[in-house]
Amino acid sequence: MSYEGKAKIMKEGPREGTMIMYFKDDVTAGNGKKKAVIQGKGKINKAITLKLLKLLEDNGIPTHLIEDIDDRSILVKKLKIFPLEVVVRNRATGSIVRRLGIEKGTVFKRPLFELFYKNDELHDPMICQEHAFMMNLIYPEDLLIVRNRAMRANEILKQYFDSIGLDLIDIKFEFGVDEKEDIYLADEISPDTMRLWEKGTMTSLDKDVFREDKADLLETYKEVAKRMGLEIE
Ligand code: 5GP
Repeated sequence: MSYEGKAKIMKEGPREGTMIMYFKDDVTAGNGKKKAVIQGKGKINKAITLKLLKLLEDNGIPTHLIEDIDDRSILVKKLKIFPLEVVVRNRATGSIVRRLGIEKGTVFKRPLFELFYKNDELHDPMICQEHAFMMNLIYPEDLLIVRNRAMRANEILKQYFDSIGLDLIDIKFEFGVDEKEDIYLADEISPDTMRLWEKGTMTSLDKDVFREDKADLLETYKEVAKRMGLEIE
């Protein structure tokens, strides 16, 4: 079984219980309304994802990463993904500003945890925990684990980005379970799935440059990779 998404392709892996995650050059925004193909984006996001998944693993967060394959692919555990986007916000921007009228840039006293129902037709609506349980998207005991891990992963990444001159504003995680029902952090972690601002400013170094036509996406992502010490030709 293989599955092609907006920015990645998931294929059966070489061993039972594994999948190959392939990073495409496609970029989309606004639930697929805005689209482009940006040569080289897949390689950069693959390298960034690999490094960040390793960082989380090294800090005690179980992730789906098994091993590196090539410049566009990684080998990951095959999981049943919860149909949830788990968002953690450190500062206000994006949908929370539109939804609640909070001023852009507001720093939250504690990181904010939000859930969205992954459903393209419904445009990934925000839901509360009770909705998630009512729709059987996740068990309450699993959501507790997901919440703890997402908050911890946010802290680890926030500290890391701070050390390379970037503010982690918000981030989207996905989680899933393997055949033993153990929970792992899944998916990519890249400037497509988080917001990074130049430290102390509101200058975006993430997909907002594409969403809002603010700067060149490839140059922006290259800058993030460079600060992370990654060499991508
Ligand atoms: P917001 O809810 O403000 O649009 O997004 C919050 C965070 O989650 C941002 O870092 C954004 O990039 C990420 N995010 C939200 N929805 C999606 C999605 O459907 N795909 C990806 N790749 N990231 C998302």
